[in-house]
Amino acid sequence: MRIGAHVRVADGYDAAVAYALEVGCECIQVFGKSPRMWAGPPIDPGAAERFSASLTEVAITPLFTHAAYLINLGSTDEAMWHRSVLALADEIARASVLHADGVVVHMGTAPDGPQAAASRVADGAVLAWNAATAGLGLPAPAVLLENAAGAGRSFGRDVAQIAATVEAVRSQGVDAVGVCFDTCHAFAAGIDLRGHDEWSEFVDDLDHRIGLNRLQVIHANDCSGGLGERRDRHAWIGDGGIGESGFAAMFAEPRLGHVAAILEMPGQMPLKDSENLARLRRLRDAASAP
Ligand SMILES: [Zn+2]
Ligand SMILES: [Zn+2]
Repeated sequence: MRIGAHVRVADGYDAAVAYALEVGCECIQVFGKSPRMWAGPPIDPGAAERFSASLTEVAITPLFTHAAYLINLGSTDEAMWHRSVLALADEIARASVLHADGVVVHMGTAPDGPQAAASRVADGAVLAWNAATAGLGLPAPAVLLENAAGAGRSFGRDVAQIAATVEAVRSQGVDAVGVCFDTCHAFAAGIDLRGHDEWSEFVDDLDHRIGLNRLQVIHANDCSGGLGERRDRHAWIGDGGIGESGFAAMFAEPRLGHVAAILEMPGQMPLKDSENLARLRRLRDAASAP
């Protein structure tokens, strides 16, 4: 597994690459624009090309973007749903300009149950993807559906809900759909990831229901809440409920070799990233030691 972190681009792409190198990223995630806004200034295509070229030069790959938190394709409010579709289309177009490999998006809410939500989220993702990629002439990044911690009516709290959505997207002829699993969200939603057997069972489930090739990213975050407590509070690697043994088991799982692990850590830059990347690297080295 390659390891990296969510990196700030608000100070420009050059600063972002320098930071990623400083803290030891092998892959990164960035925001395509402010995650708390519906719209943002366009990305300068020249700056995007230079960003992509520098990442290639320093061998940081893959690159993912994370879409706005406001997007809710599960919403039963029609205006909200349409707004979310337009916003996701914009996020896909931005990701494409940045040559990102995928754009991570939350699955919103399921006010009328998971089945109806799966088809609404899928319809929205398909509409957004088709709108963003029509006549683009650039490689189109995959839409990566992220699992939820399961609080309130949030949608995407288990593998079955995500699988139903992926299947509904594919049935409409769009294959550019994948999955991002956040370990903190999974643990908070009741998926135990504390040891080898638990990871093995989880990966079996993912493989059977979705196909492991669709899992592109793991948001590697420890969880300061307990198993199944539905609290989305990220902790440093080894300091939360998943613990060192959980992340050691993740690296030891041979079927996850193709997946990028991205940190989303609270705390001060650059320590939060340099320290947690060092912890991940140590666990990965130990897992691959003979
Ligand atoms: Zn997320
Ligand atoms: Zn989270």
